[in-house]
Parts: sequence; structure tokens; C-alpha cells
Amino acid sequence: MMFDFHTHANYADGKNSATEMIEAAIAKGLNVYGFAEHHPRHPDFRYRDDLPGEVRGLATWPDYIAEIDSLKKKYEGRIEILKGSEFDWLSLDYIDEWKKWRAETDWDYVIGSVHFLGKWGFDYLGDWEVGRQNFQSIEEIYAVYYRSITEMVESASDLFEIVGHFDLIKKFVKDVPPNATELALSALDVIAQTDLVMEINSAGWQKDCAEQYPSVDILRAAHERKIPITLNSDSHSTDRIAENFETSKELAKSVGYDEVVVFHQGGKRELIKI
Ligand SMILES: [Zn+2]
Ligand SMILES: [Zn+2]
Repeated sequence: MMFDFHTHANYADGKNSATEMIEAAIAKGLNVYGFAEHHPRHPDFRYRDDLPGEVRGLATWPDYIAEIDSLKKKYEGRIEILKGSEFDWLSLDYIDEWKKWRAETDWDYVIGSVHFLGKWGFDYLGDWEVGRQNFQSIEEIYAVYYRSITEMVESASDLFEIVGHFDLIKKFVKDVPPNATELALSALDVIAQTDLVMEINSAGWQKDCAEQYPSVDILRAAHERKIPITLNSDSHSTDRIAENFETSKELAKSVGYDEVVVFHQGGKRELIKI
């Protein structure tokens, strides 16, 4: 069984069309393929190089939903297509938007991710060094990040299914704090009290951190807490679909996992052996 639930087509920041992504997924032998387009981000939250007045993905959002519905039908019998989205957790002040987005579309699943701390889009290289100066230490940044993850999980665990790239905060960090895993544990504790699934996200291999999200130590701690996992690529182009999944599986097995969650249409979940 091959699958990938965290992928982006060209409605917001991906390179390829939805059809190109699906054709590539079929060529790679995937059985289940999920689109997780970024929901249009609230206009108050901007990366340095966003165009003035631009809200990423806003113009194409209705097209996205309609196209995935039509692709589901078109490819029926060849590949199971899932309609998902990656929601940006900004702060508790914006939870009503999450409730509205969740309710107005029949998602097969939603990924919940933190990309912003306050107004700082920390996962964009052009913003990283500048924003970092506003904190006393890298430990403080990690602590603030995991507080945001904790807030998302405690406030909205009924509004999403997958925790996106759990330790994304390390993306550009060269001086990873020695207590990086420890700083993440309380967020893992709250995830363990929910039905949320954590992803092994292979996109980190291509970034400065040069490893998957999350780290192997965090993955081990997740396994100790019986947090279910799935495998995702966060692909923004056809060549990255289901990338490094064999490595991700080996990593999962090395800390004790012997099964992963596969999502299906209508929100159904299946556990498969790895
Ligand atoms: Zn993301
Ligand atoms: Zn993503």
C-alpha cells in the first residue's frame, strides 16, 4: 500500500497542477493520494516577500475544492483521491475561522500546522534571521513554538486529524538546543490525549536541518506515548511525492512502530503493517 497525504499542487505555493500530481502519483504506484492545499492565510500574517495585498491561495481556493471533487470521480478505480487541507494555526483568536473552514467543506482530513509565531513566519528563510533577533535564545523560540502547538491541540483537536511537521521550528537551526526533545515533550503529552496522528514528514531532508520532521528522539517519545503516525512528503512538486518513504518506515520501525495510519475517503482510517 502506497500513499501520501501531505502534498501541494499549484493553487498556492506548489509547482505542478493537480492533474500532474495525480499522474505522477499513479506512475509511482500510489494507491491513495491526498491533496493538502494551504488554506488562504489571514491577511495580517505575511512573509517578507509576499506581494502587497496578496493572500496566498485565496483566488484559487474555490477552484481547488471543485477540481479535487472532479478528479476524485475522474480517477475512480485508478487511485483513491482525498480532499484535504493544511490549516495554519495562528493563535486562539482565529479559531472561529478554523471552525468555519472545517464546517463549510467535506474534508477527508485536515492537517494542522504552525508556521507563524505571532506575526513571524519563521519557516521562510528571508524571515528567519530577522525574527530570531526578537528572542533571547534559541531555547525560548522552541518553547514558544511548542506552546503554540500545545494551544492548537488543546483548542482544536476536533478540527483536524494530522499534526503537520511537528518540529518544523528546527528548519533553519544550526545550533539545535541540547534540550530540543525535552522542550517538545509537553506538546507530545497533549497530542497523546487525542485521536490526532503525527506525520513523519520527509521534506526536512531537503532543508538546512537535513532530517525528517520530527527527529528520531521525538519519534521515540511519540511511540512511548502510543501516538499513531503516518508517512507524508509535503511535496510541492511531482518529483517529491512519497519521497524517502522507505527511510521514514525504517526510522519508524527503529523506535518501535510496526504500523502506520492510512486515511481513506470519508475520514476512515486503516492501520497497515510496515
Ligand atoms: Zn506546512
Ligand atoms: Zn505543507
